Amino acid sequence: MTLPFLDLSRPWLRLWCASLCLIIPLAVGIWLLQIDYQEHLQQASLLQSKKILGHMEEMLEQADLTNQSTLPLLEKSCADVVIQLSKKAALTAFVRSISLGHNGHFYCSSIFGKLEWNEHQEGYVQGKLLLQAGNPVSPNHPFLSIRRSNANGEVVTVIDSDYLVYPLNNSSTVIDSWLKVGDNWLDKHGKLIQQLDLPKSPYLGIASSPEQPITVYSIAASAPGLWPLWHAQRISLLVLLCVSLIAAAGMWWILGRPRSPIGELARAIRAQEFEPFLQPLITASTHETRGAEVLIRWRHPTVGLINPDLFIPQAEVSGLIMPMTEQLMRKVAQRLSQQISLLPDDFYISFNISSACCKDMSLLHASQAFLNQFPPGKIQLSFELTERETLTNDAQTLALFQQLDQLGVKLAIDDFGTGHSSLLYLQQFQVETLKIDQSFVRHIGTEHISRHIVDNVIDLGLRLGIKLIAEGVETVQHATYLQDRGVHMLQGYLFGRPIPMEQFLRALAEPIPEIPSTTDSIIVAKSTA
Ligand code: C2E
Ligand code: CA
Ligand code: CA
Repeated sequence: MTLPFLDLSRPWLRLWCASLCLIIPLAVGIWLLQIDYQEHLQQASLLQSKKILGHMEEMLEQADLTNQSTLPLLEKSCADVVIQLSKKAALTAFVRSISLGHNGHFYCSSIFGKLEWNEHQEGYVQGKLLLQAGNPVSPNHPFLSIRRSNANGEVVTVIDSDYLVYPLNNSSTVIDSWLKVGDNWLDKHGKLIQQLDLPKSPYLGIASSPEQPITVYSIAASAPGLWPLWHAQRISLLVLLCVSLIAAAGMWWILGRPRSPIGELARAIRAQEFEPFLQPLITASTHETRGAEVLIRWRHPTVGLINPDLFIPQAEVSGLIMPMTEQLMRKVAQRLSQQISLLPDDFYISFNISSACCKDMSLLHASQAFLNQFPPGKIQLSFELTERETLTNDAQTLALFQQLDQLGVKLAIDDFGTGHSSLLYLQQFQVETLKIDQSFVRHIGTEHISRHIVDNVIDLGLRLGIKLIAEGVETVQHATYLQDRGVHMLQGYLFGRPIPMEQFLRALAEPIPEIPSTTDSIIVAKSTA
């Protein structure tokens, strides 16, 4: 995947995108699950309070029915009704005891029989219910009294807190519930609390009975962090994690998958991955570095350094060679112009061009921009056009070279003698330099026929007054031979391999090393190329 100015296949960007694909769905998913969980807590609290209230109402109804059926017994004496009273209390669910009284003066109990005691009736909420901490028999054991009265007196039925605690306890572990009667609260441990500060939580469910003066409060504890969510939504969270991991792996794969060679080249141009390597050009007579040939290298983010033979043909057919050359020229001009003091005057800089670079005036504009970076007379800009490629001599191409010539840009024929158009080029274009191909230079000192071609090319160049550069100079014997025959400049591993520009500039600043005088030994120069 390539965006105009962003190469997402670069390892760190790829990692970044994949991480986003992991983090974003995970974060959004957790957020949605959290919202869902909060809604669930809210509803669960409400549901819980209603459910508990239902149980409470059921108990109260039982007690009230007992009270109603007991009211007629108020007309008789305790001795007459005590058996009946005890029987009722024993047989009615949830009921602990039933007592009979007149205006707060009780005289008969299902547990103790005939017994007199006084009890204030004002505490009863709506005259019906009273939640109490205990009585003399069981002082710390709360109970709920349910009262019903008529003109003959009142009946009070007691429900033990053990029964009340049961529904309060039988709830979710994250939800706490309380029963409230008047100002008194009963918690799930069966403890009566008179002033209760409810825990702060947004998940509060309140259910009040329409019949009885009771209210049930249910509160879900809102613990911070993800732990409660993990506890409640473990499966969803694991599924979410898997989906996010799959999305991240998918993104990683998409961004790293191979694209078309041309697409990859276009991306590399945008990502500025092409680098200039410089190989020194040596004056044959003095062995001084007087120039350099710029040779392109592709620093691919995953593959590493790629040599031009592997991508220049593709760049030529796809039309990307010109933007590539422009990028190279810009980089060289920018860096060299910062180190002008290191360069001798008239420093020769040559770029390789293809015929595809000659179809419009882009090369002229690039040359103008290049030269503008240097003071006049500092740089001698030259283009090397390989003879193996056919260059049409149409009006456009001729105009381009004419204007380049006017600008002071020189033209060199590269790989001279290897193609068929050597002489044609010399006639049609203002050729300043011939580069003797390394395939001929290699055979100097042997009896190979190429040795004679070298002599002939040198002879032709000298007769036409064209400058001669020999490439592929690897031995002292090559250098001596070419120098003796009048070749102006030498280029080859004997003097230096193509190296990154920074390294080239550092080497320029150092004193010139002596060229060894032993014959015919191939110098294996140290190289980073
Ligand atoms: P070339 O223009 O003939 O460049 C000379 C090639 O010979 C370079 O290979 C260089 O590294 C290599 N060379 C230099 N001295 C010696 C030597 O002493 N012995 C041997 N065996 N080889 C030597 P490189 O850099 O791999 O370039 C290969 C070709 O790619 C170049 O051949 C040129 O045709 C093309 N090229 C390089 N850069 C560009 C560019 O920016 N644009 C275009 N259109 N073509 C380029
Ligand atoms: Ca060349
Ligand atoms: Ca060549």
